Amino acid sequence: MEKVRLGNTDIFVSRAGFGVLPMGPSQLALPIEEGAKILVYAMDHGIRFIDTAQYYRTYPYIREALKMIQASQQGEAGAGIYDDVVICSKCLYEDYDSMMEAIHEACTELDRSYIDIFLMHEVRSGQLKERAGAWQALKDAKAQGLVRAIGLSTHHVDVTRAAADMADLDVVFPLINYVGLGIRKGDSFATREEMMEAIEACHAVGKGVFSMKAFGGGSLTAHYQEALGYVFGQPAIDSVMIGFGKISDVDDLLSYMDGTMDPAYNPDISKKKVYINQEDCEGCGSCKAACPAGAIYYNPTNGLAEVDHDKCLTCGYCSPVCPVRAVIMY
Ligand code: SF4
Ligand code: SF4
Repeated sequence: MEKVRLGNTDIFVSRAGFGVLPMGPSQLALPIEEGAKILVYAMDHGIRFIDTAQYYRTYPYIREALKMIQASQQGEAGAGIYDDVVICSKCLYEDYDSMMEAIHEACTELDRSYIDIFLMHEVRSGQLKERAGAWQALKDAKAQGLVRAIGLSTHHVDVTRAAADMADLDVVFPLINYVGLGIRKGDSFATREEMMEAIEACHAVGKGVFSMKAFGGGSLTAHYQEALGYVFGQPAIDSVMIGFGKISDVDDLLSYMDGTMDPAYNPDISKKKVYINQEDCEGCGSCKAACPAGAIYYNPTNGLAEVDHDKCLTCGYCSPVCPVRAVIMY
């Protein structure tokens, strides 16, 4: 698969990346070995950019996959897949110590002496000041060689635009898709054009850009080629992160990338399930109100929405009403 340089960094990544969230405990909860095998398959086929997060609890899959890769490469001369893989992780905490701990934890759990890319996770409008401690930790970690590139992930146009002006920031991981689902600006919604403008501002000053939620959290998967065509068609986006939970998902992407996909093909989404990403949910209740099956309830511990799969009809009514794209289909 084609590789690109991430902005002005010295990091080269595959045009498509592997989002590990879907296989983890909050979604498919795959056994470690099964998830690791999907990762190995993708890496074997040229997808060498992996996105994870402290919050996802998916480090064991990546560690196992890297062990499998190392074992299969034993005795081979020169740098192989193991050295070629670029790992990105991120942390939600705002303070210095928690961010520094998260970086050390990632190194330990992934058995790496450094993490290629580490981000402030899901920065919202107006939060950059509150997260100054975490940002300082990232800068110090980079100076210490624990991290090669630093930046932030966000659903917000104004945060993406601000990233262009952050001198020490190397990369940005914004949300964008062809419909503009889930793009925010303050408390309101924004358009894909507004987000693209912010992304282009980042790209123009040499920030590396990799995008998330090309399928809007699953709502656009039935429009597979249109959704991918939009993000891969943007010169300002270096790489596109896509969540995979099974080998056939990887195969679909590979056939799209190499141009062998039937132009009429769109994946069968009839067996997919609806999940609520607890990291994004704000407990507003819109999904519960829209659900005709009474399948959404509030988790009594944290007040956030969850889906009862025994009742869910996978009608999808809950997805478009969620203001933060926390309803995902996988
Ligand atoms: S997909 Fe339909 S039935 Fe399932 S939780 Fe959403 S609205 Fe309810
Ligand atoms: S609509 Fe979205 S933010 Fe609101 S409760 Fe449902 S999942 Fe959470």
